[in-house]
Amino acid sequence: MKTAGPLRRPLIEWYRRHRRDLAWRRTRDPYRIWISEVMLQQTTVKTVMPYYEAFVAAFPDLPSLAGAAEEKVLALWSGLGYYHRARNLHRGARHVLERHRGRFPRTLEAALAVPGVGLYTASAVLSIAHGVPLPVVDGNVRRVLARLFALRGPEWRADAAFYNKADELLDRQAPGDWNQALMELGATVCLPRRPACPACPLRAHCAALALGIAEQLPEGRARRAPVAVTVAAALVEEGGRVLLVRRGEGRLMGRMWEVPQTSLEARGLPDLARELKQRHGLDLVPGKLVARGRHAITFRRIRLEAYSSRLRRRPPVDPERFRWVRPEEIAALPVSSITRKVLRGLGSPQLPLELQ
Ligand code: SF4
Repeated sequence: MKTAGPLRRPLIEWYRRHRRDLAWRRTRDPYRIWISEVMLQQTTVKTVMPYYEAFVAAFPDLPSLAGAAEEKVLALWSGLGYYHRARNLHRGARHVLERHRGRFPRTLEAALAVPGVGLYTASAVLSIAHGVPLPVVDGNVRRVLARLFALRGPEWRADAAFYNKADELLDRQAPGDWNQALMELGATVCLPRRPACPACPLRAHCAALALGIAEQLPEGRARRAPVAVTVAAALVEEGGRVLLVRRGEGRLMGRMWEVPQTSLEARGLPDLARELKQRHGLDLVPGKLVARGRHAITFRRIRLEAYSSRLRRRPPVDPERFRWVRPEEIAALPVSSITRKVLRGLGSPQLPLELQ
């Protein structure tokens, strides 16, 4: 088995020359690095960039985030998905303010006690901001290691095996750069399909390249099969405002605002009127199909249909559950991405609207 020695110089030098200039790489502030790491989970760099900029502009330091209303935090997260991340970040900021006087902890143990901070995030923030020698393993690192060392077989299905391997290789003098270099190599060169091996600084050391099996690695973890879901939504308009309802606590995307909707994990159309009556107490009559489209969230492949609807009875005045909003007010509310998609298309003369 190769040691890390010959890999370090070429990889670190490559990283310092070729790394992408990203806003969160221009700081050593653990608070900002924490935000970027949380946003980047399951999300691409390109998607994250504008969200990160807006988020740190609104909450430039940890006390400003800790002191913010949850609704404002979620509004700035709207469209980024996986909203539990925003809630955890918010709770975590409050914890750090109360227990650590607003400074992100410097030890792994204390960092892991912050709500929502797991081993990956703790290790990334501590190694990058404070130079604590902790390895990080995300999908990119896993792929690079699997290929470099041609790691195959049942023992390389477990995350722990990759964590130990990354720990063995870690550059303890420059753990932040080393971790980021491995992640960057995976994100820009050692791609899942068609890795750019001729441009790789480690090609001379790569076992998978030598064996011609790079694209076959890493060996798969079982993927969850996609589930087809139909979502029917009711568009209720009145005087240029649209009716939104709030999702219940504890549900996926809990407490976000959305166009009243219901879903069915199958083909066919859910009974919109009955479901909305049961779920929100709304008494309405669905009418014409005004928009349809497709949407993907995690493993769900959603077929979306929005119907212009008429209320038989107005919902009670309860701003915690129902709101009438103008399209330009949406940006300030935590709103699901499906709802954003539907509302973006309102007012189009061509119906039904095909949503992109
Ligand atoms: S040589 Fe190719 S497969 Fe090996 S680490 Fe580099 S990009 Fe990945």
